Amino acid sequence: MYVDVHSHLTHKDFAGDLDEVIKRATEAGLTSIIVNGLEPESNRRILQLAETYPVIKPALGIYPIDAINHLQALIPFPVKAFDVDAEIAFIESQAKAGSIIAIGECGLDGHWVGTETFAAQERVFEALIEIAVRHDLPLIIHTRKLEERAMQILAAHRVTKVDFHCYCGRSKMAIEAAQKHGWYFSIPANARRDGAFQKLLKELPEDLVLTETDCPYLPPEKGQRNEPRNVVGTIDLLSELRGWSVEQAREKVWTNYQRLFQTKK
Ligand SMILES: [Zn+2]
Repeated sequence: MYVDVHSHLTHKDFAGDLDEVIKRATEAGLTSIIVNGLEPESNRRILQLAETYPVIKPALGIYPIDAINHLQALIPFPVKAFDVDAEIAFIESQAKAGSIIAIGECGLDGHWVGTETFAAQERVFEALIEIAVRHDLPLIIHTRKLEERAMQILAAHRVTKVDFHCYCGRSKMAIEAAQKHGWYFSIPANARRDGAFQKLLKELPEDLVLTETDCPYLPPEKGQRNEPRNVVGTIDLLSELRGWSVEQAREKVWTNYQRLFQTKK
């Protein structure tokens, strides 16, 4: 049983062959693929996909750049305009209905945009954290350059059910945060060519490691389109780094997934 806790199967790169991508994933042994939402369109599409494909588990969220779409002049690429508060309300309605497994992705981004956007990003991030708390759902966190601030906010809300997706901050800070707060970290499929991800695979508390792809991004080999079945390679790497059998590594991550997402499947 393999799991991909962070994917974007709603991406246009999968429009032509989604059936085959999902078939390859299930044939490789994946029993759960969490698809993460970014804005209204992907959030709604994910709910549809989950009805079509039982392996897909929906997480709805607002990407930090989409969260500030009203500040288009401060964003270096075009972002579709939408009513953020209406979307927050929609996400809460789905949380209340029990139709989602997590809130995400959500968080803070200091890579594409500057400090003048941070207050607006934090407002949306905190609103989504509060929904997660009210409905006892885990959060899937995107944070770029603002890892420390995101951790401060999460700690202030005393949330424990947290997965940092594709964490690229200091490894030491991640390991300490995992030890202190019990937060999880999902490691993407390009870890074999990334020393920092290997350090996390090796040194995070073993009960707090998860696998993800962020597909179609972050492929194992540059230039490929990534897809969920590539978590298999990350489990191989985890087993090599820890001196475990592949079965042990797979079982460990599967148990971690079940614990964080409060699910048996
Ligand atoms: Zn993502």
